[in-house]
Amino acid sequence: MTVDSARLFAAFAQDWGRPTLDSRVASLAASLTAAGWSAVRVEIAAPGATARADIGLIPLHEAGGAGRVALVHALARFARDGAYVVPRDRRGDLGELLAPGREDVVVVPLMAQGDQIGTIVALTPVAAPDDVKALRAFADVLAIAVDADQRQRRAEGDAERAAVIARVGESIRASLDREEILRAVARDVRIAFGSDRCTIYVRDDRNPSIARGIAADDPRSSRPPLPERIPIAGTLLNRCLGLGQAVRIGSDANDVDRQQLIAFGAVAMLLVPFVVDGRVDAGIAIQFERDHRFDERDLLLMRTIAMHVSLALANSRLYERERSARRRAEDIERNVRALKDTRSVADILHSLLEIITQEFSLIGSGWAVERSDLVCRVVSNRSEGIATIDDRAPEALAVINAMADHELITIAARDDGAWVKIVGTRGGFALPLRVEHRLYGMLAFEGLPRDIDDSQGREAYVRTVAAHGALALANARAFEAERRFAAESAAISEAGRTVLAHNDLGALAEAMTRYALELSDANMASLYVPRDGVLARVACATIGGECALPQRISFEDPLVERAIESGNSMLATLAGGAVAVVPLRSAASPRAAGVFVCQRASDDARPFDRSVLRLLEALGTLVALGLRNVELYSALSENNEFKDDLLAMFTHDFKGPLTVIQGYTELLLEEETGERKASVETIYAQSKRLAKLADDSLVLARTQAAGFSLQRDICDLNGFVGESVHAHDPGEDRIEYVYPEEDDTIVFIDRTRLRHVLDNVIGNALKYSEGVVRVEVETRGSEAFVRVSDRGIGIPPADLERVFVRFGRGTNARSRGIAGTGVGLYISRKIVEVHGGRIAVRSVENEGSTFEIVLPLAPAAGMTEDVEPAAQPALVPEVTAS
Ligand code: ADP
Repeated sequence: MTVDSARLFAAFAQDWGRPTLDSRVASLAASLTAAGWSAVRVEIAAPGATARADIGLIPLHEAGGAGRVALVHALARFARDGAYVVPRDRRGDLGELLAPGREDVVVVPLMAQGDQIGTIVALTPVAAPDDVKALRAFADVLAIAVDADQRQRRAEGDAERAAVIARVGESIRASLDREEILRAVARDVRIAFGSDRCTIYVRDDRNPSIARGIAADDPRSSRPPLPERIPIAGTLLNRCLGLGQAVRIGSDANDVDRQQLIAFGAVAMLLVPFVVDGRVDAGIAIQFERDHRFDERDLLLMRTIAMHVSLALANSRLYERERSARRRAEDIERNVRALKDTRSVADILHSLLEIITQEFSLIGSGWAVERSDLVCRVVSNRSEGIATIDDRAPEALAVINAMADHELITIAARDDGAWVKIVGTRGGFALPLRVEHRLYGMLAFEGLPRDIDDSQGREAYVRTVAAHGALALANARAFEAERRFAAESAAISEAGRTVLAHNDLGALAEAMTRYALELSDANMASLYVPRDGVLARVACATIGGECALPQRISFEDPLVERAIESGNSMLATLAGGAVAVVPLRSAASPRAAGVFVCQRASDDARPFDRSVLRLLEALGTLVALGLRNVELYSALSENNEFKDDLLAMFTHDFKGPLTVIQGYTELLLEEETGERKASVETIYAQSKRLAKLADDSLVLARTQAAGFSLQRDICDLNGFVGESVHAHDPGEDRIEYVYPEEDDTIVFIDRTRLRHVLDNVIGNALKYSEGVVRVEVETRGSEAFVRVSDRGIGIPPADLERVFVRFGRGTNARSRGIAGTGVGLYISRKIVEVHGGRIAVRSVENEGSTFEIVLPLAPAAGMTEDVEPAAQPALVPEVTAS
């Protein structure tokens, strides 16, 4: 055979114009056969190039690695002219690799840049050396052409991939939002691969064993939507998201993988993880519903895209972190501002709890430290029904101690009972609310915060909130203490006023037990005072319902005995309810004057607060004083009554003999002359003075007595005053009387008593002056004025008020030796006031005085008959002794 090389190359030049490598190779094999080879097989190490003629060789690409090695070894012996020529009689040397036949076999490797890129296997009856050389030369040209072609195709593929990467790059730069980026990437990749669906699986924030898909679907395929939550374990996702592997499976998959593919509704699938900050939180899956082979370049492309996306996700995470850090900073600032205006401990704990639980979706509670050994749960967002925590957990002592030197306590590490009880059973964390070294409260949470990406950020956040909260709490505490103190002071001073207003035991006891009930937040409060050898209940206040406290308590009752002996409040629990026995103590007596007993409801064992006991004790002191006051008052009133009766009796009996003496003295005066007459006149004057004294005393005694009342009459004041003026100045040379002549001045008065007033005031004016006295009646508006003025000794300014007090006298009157009792003006003021009027004095010492009596005018004539003199206050007996 002589190969026609010229024709062969011409055919090659023509064949190479065919569109696909496959078709080129096929027509090439045909040309070679046409050129004289009996059978030809061309194999190119590129996808798509296959044998065209069966030449009895095992297809090389199916021979597998071992077959290839055996073939190469076997062929080595037949190397000739840059090819391998196996003579027909030696074909058996290649064993199973080459079927026996009647033709020589020529194998020519296609070499490009030192690599074998393909093989030509040709059969001919006799392989002449020239034919082999010609085939060799053709193979070299073919190798160059194939290599150039492959390079170009690779370049085109690279350009295509670069375009996909560029498009994805653009999409991920367009946004900083993670979700948006992933959506765009899924869309770009699906379009680039022409796949039915591209999904990005993202690990769930809250439950890392679950993934969520963000999918882009080919609008032409009617695919069911993705399930919302896809478990990772046991699915293809585990290889990608769990192990971080790229997974490439198609129709050649094993049974297990095929089942998995069916679960995802795919026939072929490529899964590539996104590695962000060294962690796989997402992966991309390209799915085909038809058979599809993903090659190395697809894998490479997807790895490149995954790298870009991972970077973008890291950026977005950074941005998110920044943004949420800024938002949190703003939140904190806003919340802190709100906290500043919050004044109650409960409100502050509530806000703090809200801030943290909302930020991290937790369950939590806020606790206030009430004393050094008690914290009290104030608020909780734990819904009813879930494990409950005691409102006041004494276990909290352990917690308080633990809080002393920690800023944040993770409960998972401390599973002792106290913590579990405070926080809940699932573990969590607690934050002390402390300022300097004082603990004001704490926040406790079930579960751990998750949303902020790094644990340091979370801790910094909750600690900042806690620090501000603690300050607000400290302020609120101070404010509450101040307010409580003010309220307590107000309550005690109010109680003090009540004590002063009562001089009757029953009313006092009733008012005080009411206070005790209010102050103690109890259900019942009773007051017990000693009576007949036991403590008798004198009052009981309850919040509705009967008083269940005993009528009598023995002094030997242990609780009462201890309270009275020690002078301290005693606490106990009776029938499930808290009880406090508070002694009534005052500085005036060493022994308690009785006890308060306060009792809570039978299911309320909350002990009485120390501050409440302090208040009750203060109240007890007031009650002790009040009881003493009541005692003194009743002794005093008995005393006063006796004294007034005695006075009335004396003066009455005194006046009888005096009147007789005066009568005889008057007779004697008519008869006597000379020296003896002067003596009789003295007797007469002194007996008149005695009679006046007796009169005053009698009126005084009467006004002091309970039930003092007026016998009122309509009266013309002008005439009435005139009578008194005339009686004092029969010679009409000492008194100048001025009154409104055109009108009557009608008043409604007790003539006898008002006569006493006028006599007293006019008498004084005459007594304390020597010149003319002016008496004047005037009306103005609804009032009548009687003014008595003199130019006598006057009253020193310091004595002006005293002259109206019982037994009150001016110092100048005393020093001048002017006789007087200091009772007249006192009685006068009483009488005028009972008439609804008033009396006052203006005076300058050594210049004179003006006394002014003001009385209400009687209503217009005709109506006076109807006036019922009912609104006359009885004269109240004085309490204090003078
Ligand atoms: P008495 O005149 O009996 O002392 P009163 O109660 O009538 O008692 O008066 C009280 C005091 O008021 C008198 O002691 C006197 O000091 C003073 N007083 C009353 N009237 C006058 C007056 N017109 N001028 C000066 N002092 C007067």
